[in-house]
Formats: sequence, C-alpha cells, structure tokens
Amino acid sequence: MATSNFTLNTGATIPAIGLGTWQSAAGEVETAVYHAITVAGVRHIDCAFAYGNEAEVGRAFTRVFSEGKVSRSEVFVTTKLWGTWHTRTTEALEASLKNLGLDYVDLYLMHWPIPLNPSGNHPFFPTKPDGTREVLEDWSFVDTWKAMEKLVDSGKTKAIGVSNCSIPYLEHLLKSATIVPAVNQVELHPLLPQEKLVAYCKEKGIRMTAYSPLGSTGGPLLKDETVKKVAEKHGISVGNVLINWLVARGIVAIPKSVTPSRIEENAKIVALDEEDVEAIWGIHNAQGVKRFVSPPWPVSLLFDDAPWAENFKTLL
Ligand code: NDP
Repeated sequence: MATSNFTLNTGATIPAIGLGTWQSAAGEVETAVYHAITVAGVRHIDCAFAYGNEAEVGRAFTRVFSEGKVSRSEVFVTTKLWGTWHTRTTEALEASLKNLGLDYVDLYLMHWPIPLNPSGNHPFFPTKPDGTREVLEDWSFVDTWKAMEKLVDSGKTKAIGVSNCSIPYLEHLLKSATIVPAVNQVELHPLLPQEKLVAYCKEKGIRMTAYSPLGSTGGPLLKDETVKKVAEKHGISVGNVLINWLVARGIVAIPKSVTPSRIEENAKIVALDEEDVEAIWGIHNAQGVKRFVSPPWPVSLLFDDAPWAENFKTLL
C-alpha cells in the first residue's frame, strides 16, 4: 500500500516525498518552498549549504511558521555539510541553521565523503595548480563522521546521515561509527536503480533517499515510453510514476521543481501495480544504466553501477 511516511533508524518519521532545492534559482526558491508547504502539502524540504540558497529557503520557512499555518515540527528539514567544512562541522551546522532561520534540522548529511581543503583557492571547489579539485589529504571522512556524531548530542540536528556513499565507503564508515547513518542519499531512478546498495542499506537499517528521481534537469526519463504507458494507464503524470516507483520500494524521493503545478503534482502518493514496478525495472535492462550527476572528483567513489573517475584513488 502506498504510504506517505517512512521510519528512520532513530525512530523518527521522514515524509516519503520531499522537495529538492538544488539549482532552484534565487527569486524562485522562496516561492517554491512556500508553495510546497502551504499549498501542495509537502512536509519535507531537502537543502544544502552548497546550493547557495539556504537563506532564501529560510525566508520561506520564516513566513510559513510565523503565519502559523504549519508548525516547525511538522516539516522535515534536511541540509548538508560541504567538503570544505569537514574539519568544522559545528560551525558548518551553525552557518546552515542561521541561513535557514532554524534552531535545528531534522537531518544533517555529509554531502560527499570527500573532505576538501578549507583554506584553498575557492570556498567550495578549491583546486590544485593542475586544475583538479583539492582533496584534504590528512583528514578522513570517518573523522568527519565522528565529529557529526557529536552534533546529535547538541540537539541541533535530530539525525545524521551520508550522501553519495557506495557499499565500500559505508562498510569503511560502519567499522568505526557509533551512530549508523539514518539515511544515504544517492542518485537513484529507473536508469540507475542501485539495486545492491538499496539491499545493503536495508540490511543495515539505513533509509535510502533518491536524488535526481526524475533523472535530473533535461534527463530522458520524463519522455520514456514505458513510463508514459504506466502514466496513461493510471491517468497520472510521468513525474508521479517515477516518484512513486521509488516510494513503492521504500525509498524517499526528493524531486526538485520551482513550478507550482509540478510541485503539487509531484507531491501525490499513488499506488502503482506490481506489474508497473516490474515494467519500470526493465528500462535500465534495455537502455543500460546512466548517471546524470557526476562531478569531476579526483577520487573513486566505488559505485558499481555507472562508475566514474575509476582511475583515481579511493579515500578508504
Ligand atoms: P530532479 O530529478 O528532481 O529533476 C528536476 C528537473 O525536473 C527540473 O528541471 C524540474 O524543472 C523538472 N521537473 C520537476 N517536476 C517535473 C514534472 N512533474 N514534470 C516535468 N519536469 C519536472 O533533479 P535534481 O537533480 O534537482 O534532484 C532533485 C534534488 O535532489 C535536488 O534538487 C537536491 O535537493 C537533491 N540532490 C542531491 C544531490 C547530492 O549530492 N546529495 C545531488 C543532486 C541532487 P522545474 O524546476 O523548472 O519545474
């Protein structure tokens, strides 16, 4: 049966569908978040310090909560720690909370398991003289995790999790972790179903969140014939099909939109038939796996589906 909430290993619930905010432009994201919460009924907003728009998202929160339509405790807010802040987790979370105008977030994620030089030539993407991104050599993402664990005690985040972690990276982290990540947020859609990672996270009690659930901006999935057929059969949109295919597998989906009608549409929980779910599985078998978000990290992240940068060293 379709559900609108899932449980985390902390005991908290997380709404199955959230609103993404990456690339939501200035001048648009405040309206999008306000509309999502007050009109579309969305109760989960996915943010990140690196998106550069937390302050504008925060203005929407301030409006919503001050109007008293929806209370803070009803909205699940996620934000993320950027690589150049791995050695400064307390300050990073404080900065995000200040931007967002909040006392706490519900979930704080390590955006990528890649610490970057905090005093390099760029605040977000420091580079070496050869132009490659400058990874912080004497710091491990496991050190970052240990510092993040302390943030839970501060009450400024209710839960911590990771993003962009493959099975080997999770295994490495779990060897020293006191807190098992509540969530692993990765790219996940019918062209990148991440089957083994989903099974691994389920076994470990880590909830998966799918980013780029529609195949990201300009991706081919919204025009896919199989997806269209399922949409026609149920009289729903292709976005509904892609999002609810994930929800049917117990995966949280965080579609991004700044278009009011799409924000409303994407928020709908729809029960798909088992045969629809199966048909959508067939897409990657026929077309091969495709990854749409692959930043040029000089690091191998060891994803077994659609790997990238495999000639680089790992951080394990
Ligand atoms: P999505 O798969 O959510 O696709 C977003 C694109 O689809 C936008 O161009 C949007 O346009 C369009 N769109 C939205 N709804 C519909 C619809 N119903 N029909 C047709 N088009 C639609 O891509 P994202 O890559 O943005 O991923 C979603 C979120 O995941 C991000 O915003 C971010 O919060 C998170 N993320 C996290 C990452 C990480 O490293 N942890 C990396 C990437 C994303 P429009 O806005 O114009 O409506």
